[in-house]
Amino acid sequence: MPRYEFRCLDCSREGGQSIFEVSRPMSAASDPASCPAGHDDTVKLLSMVSMVSSVGSGSSGSSGGGGCCGGSCGCG
Ligand SMILES: [Zn+2]
Repeated sequence: MPRYEFRCLDCSREGGQSIFEVSRPMSAASDPASCPAGHDDTVKLLSMVSMVSSVGSGSSGSSGGGGCCGGSCGCG
């Protein structure tokens, strides 16, 4: 589940820890979040969650799976 960073404006005003993370499904990414202190005045930050890796890793030909050499197929 991806994590999103939020900033609480109330906590920021008070000079406290204003950045917090929320784990939620991508379908709920844009939902409002309450800070750990219970404030609702939060804004979502543009986090650098590594969602780019799904593009370049190459889904076809899963090399290095390691399932074959377990002994049943005798490839070793
Ligand atoms: Zn807060």
